[in-house]
Amino acid sequence: MFSSILNIIYLIASVTFIMGLKMLSRPESARKGNLIAAGGMSFAIFGTVFLYEASNGQHLGNLPWMFAALIIGGVLGAVSSRKVKMTQMPEMVSLFNGMGGACAMLISLIEFNHIAGSEIALGHFIAIVLGLVIGSISFAGSIIAYLKLSGKQKDISFKGQHIFNLVLFFIILVGAVLTYLVEPAMAPTFFYITFGLAILYGVFFVLPIGGADMPVVISLLNSLTGVAAACGGFLYNNKAMLTGGILVGAAGTLLTVLMCKAMNRSLLNVIIGNWGGSNAAGGSTQEGGSYKEVSTSDAAMLMSYAKKVVIVPGYGLAVAQAQHTCHELEKILTDKGVEVSYAIHPVAGRMPGHMNVLLAEADVDYEKLEEMEDANSNFKTTDVVLILGANDVVNPAAKNDPTSPIYGMPILEVEDAKNVIVNKRSMKPGYAGIENALFYQPKTSMLFGDAKKVLQDLCAEVKAT
Ligand code: NDP
Repeated sequence: MFSSILNIIYLIASVTFIMGLKMLSRPESARKGNLIAAGGMSFAIFGTVFLYEASNGQHLGNLPWMFAALIIGGVLGAVSSRKVKMTQMPEMVSLFNGMGGACAMLISLIEFNHIAGSEIALGHFIAIVLGLVIGSISFAGSIIAYLKLSGKQKDISFKGQHIFNLVLFFIILVGAVLTYLVEPAMAPTFFYITFGLAILYGVFFVLPIGGADMPVVISLLNSLTGVAAACGGFLYNNKAMLTGGILVGAAGTLLTVLMCKAMNRSLLNVIIGNWGGSNAAGGSTQEGGSYKEVSTSDAAMLMSYAKKVVIVPGYGLAVAQAQHTCHELEKILTDKGVEVSYAIHPVAGRMPGHMNVLLAEADVDYEKLEEMEDANSNFKTTDVVLILGANDVVNPAAKNDPTSPIYGMPILEVEDAKNVIVNKRSMKPGYAGIENALFYQPKTSMLFGDAKKVLQDLCAEVKAT
């Protein structure tokens, strides 16, 4: 009786996960989708706690422990997600993803102890060992990714590291197979060696990856965590866990592929390419040449008398938290009869959709956001492009410098517009660590300063013209 109700609860939870995922694809419905999926997950958790029946008819014990863990985890999750800044989101995703990997890893460790010393069915063993290996790699890798993104850990690579990683991975596979094949008494030794090596692999896998590639790796680790959780679903014959894990695994894989595509790079190149790391090579880092500065009043004048202005938001806009002031400027210009839109590059910022979320937060009309392909065909008829804290995503080296590490990445072709105004604080390079020739072109003017302050001044000047 209880198990039938529980199965219905799992089915409902699975439907909410699918609905939530679908709704996450549109900014207007994303928040609701997240809540619906979280509601489904809570329903599945409480259903399991109160209705789960073992084969001997026993219900779960340890309720005080479970509720203590739920309360501590819930409070920590709620407080940290309220406090986190948009620019620190990849760090938090990474940390939370690591927790998911750790859960899958702990499930495998505990379940192995339950069966150690006895004959193990192959299917059951595969689910345990896959959960252990993938969960451990995901846990260790995500923690290193978190430390790197928060600046607490530098990229570390040594000669032959990729070969070392491959050999390590091969030994892990051998260890897993031997755990199954050896005498039951010896199995724990091989199992724990495999566990230790999987943790080590997670560390060495992420340590050398360059800064600008970290979001792709986080997405990859996220899909691994999904697969590890799905292994737990197999182990416990738990449909909600299985569906949730498969959805995370599939969505994470798709996201990884899409991010690689947006940067025009293969996943292998991301993993072994060292692009955008502290040792990013190639490209011209010493552009030299002279650049032109523009005053706030001249920039305001140019935009006020333009027919069409396109705003290009980037990571710097998010750092300055200037999205509301940016929307304000858009409204003032529109009131003056200027046509204003936003050109959104798929990897602008530090995670996919970063700019869409940022601008949606400031109530910017979604209709005003142009995707890269549309924006590129419209730049030719644009009078002024205003670049706010974006750099790599408008770097022409991606198109015309085959030695540049970002060569081949699709960019916003802003130099097609009549005038380009670039707002940033200095001539320092962007995340990929390479110089930008756009800043030295005759039609480009630099407007230095913090994006928020510059936008506030621009608003005042445009109002006055
Ligand atoms: P960039 O990191 O290239 O450039 C941001 C610029 O903002 C910097 O040059 C910085 O210059 C400026 N800036 C920083 N703070 C401020 C501020 N307060 N006010 C004004 N300007 C500021 O950002 P993009 O958005 O152009 O590019 C994103 C990068 O991240 C790309 O390399 C992309 O490939 C990478 N990436 C993104 C992923 C994604 O999914 N979104 C995934 C993987 C990688 P200064 O210090 O002089 O002010």
